[in-house]
Amino acid sequence: TFTLGPKITTWDQDRKVWLRRYRQFPNYINGRPRTLLVTGSPPSPCDNAVGDHYLLKALKNKIDYCRIHGIEIVYNMAHLDKEMAGYWAKLPLIRRLMLSHPEVEWIWWMDSDALFTDMVFEIPALKYRNHNMVIHGYPDLLFDQKSWIALNTGSFLLRNCQWSLDLLDAWAPMGPKGPVREEAGKILTAYLKGRPAFEADDQSALIYMLVSEKDRWMNKVFVENSYLLHGFWEGLVDRYEEMIEKHHPGLGDERWPFVTHFVGCKPCGSYGDYSVERCLKSMERAFNFADNQVLKLYGFKHMGLVSPNIKRIRSESVNPLIDVDRFAIRRSVHHSR
Ligand code: UDP
Ligand code: MN
Repeated sequence: TFTLGPKITTWDQDRKVWLRRYRQFPNYINGRPRTLLVTGSPPSPCDNAVGDHYLLKALKNKIDYCRIHGIEIVYNMAHLDKEMAGYWAKLPLIRRLMLSHPEVEWIWWMDSDALFTDMVFEIPALKYRNHNMVIHGYPDLLFDQKSWIALNTGSFLLRNCQWSLDLLDAWAPMGPKGPVREEAGKILTAYLKGRPAFEADDQSALIYMLVSEKDRWMNKVFVENSYLLHGFWEGLVDRYEEMIEKHHPGLGDERWPFVTHFVGCKPCGSYGDYSVERCLKSMERAFNFADNQVLKLYGFKHMGLVSPNIKRIRSESVNPLIDVDRFAIRRSVHHSR
């Protein structure tokens, strides 16, 4: 069967020795785990040019969030493994980055079509000190219903450790393009509630594995739903004005979603579950909603949630440091160990 590479078995020990040898590359900085946000898009241009524009906006959004919060970022456009094209491309990529960056403690995968919409909220790293995977979802949907949307693989964290390499190895075999992926799709559709008939996807395969081998994996998987590590766009984008009126960034949940993910929208490709116009307008709203939180640091905001144009929200000051104190988003200092 298919493998992501030679079986590695001693990563925890090897990495520990490496970290001791290279003290200038610590995996914790000021008590915070070093985190690498990983995202990407296909090697070729979008079918529709406007799709590339939204990929750029989605990347700008991630760069802004990562700069503010001291997170490193990788944007990948290559298929590291030809067999694992499409949504499976993240698996060989995550593995490669873990092995090439032993200094990174958490790899955070985020889809190209997911935007940060709360620029203040931070992952509560301390809460996950005993876990190796953090993923948005609902345990009842997962174990009682075996629903194919019980978890969402558009935004999740994996710790750089042997357990995660083992997880990737166990997750990958349904991925190879062609008959393997097609046949596996039938198994997944038969097993998972609500899943339409199509080739095996990474999300269904993960859910299948975690449900069918619960004892093997679940003690290290944190199924998070106290905030929106992934938030389905449809119920969120039309409520941004209401959120602005009633709440404030930093909450990360339904009141002010941490992430808005455009599941079912394919502005870069040719098919999708929703009209391209509706998707693009909604993405524009999410982008500007988030961008306003960034522009506020500099004294500007968008004219409206669908306008690329901006206006001043305060006059230039001869005492700019007062504004720094008032408006800068400060990353909080966590003591994770
Ligand atoms: N992706 C990639 N290379 C590809 C195809 C997909 O890096 O060739 C990434 C991209 O970030 C995308 C994610 O994988 O958002 C999930 O793929 P999917 O086809 O589900 O796309 P989505 O619906 O999320 O746009
Ligand atoms: Mn997606």
